[in-house]
Amino acid sequence: MAAKIEIDEDECLGCEACVEACPSVFAMDEDTEKAVVIDGADGDEDCVDEAIASCPAECIAKS
Ligand code: SF4
Repeated sequence: MAAKIEIDEDECLGCEACVEACPSVFAMDEDTEKAVVIDGADGDEDCVDEAIASCPAECIAKS
């Protein structure tokens, strides 16, 4: 089963670093200006770890 990824929207700064690091998994919600996980995205992709490392708010969790 693919890893589950969660973004704490309260902490998200909307900086888009996760989208730049891993555009196949993360996208910006243009209404909230926060990052979201793309429906059906593969949470086991290597770039997820890059996105987590690049997040200045440390608000991405993988489980
Ligand atoms: S890198 Fe972190 S703070 Fe920046 S948009 Fe993504 S989840 Fe939000």
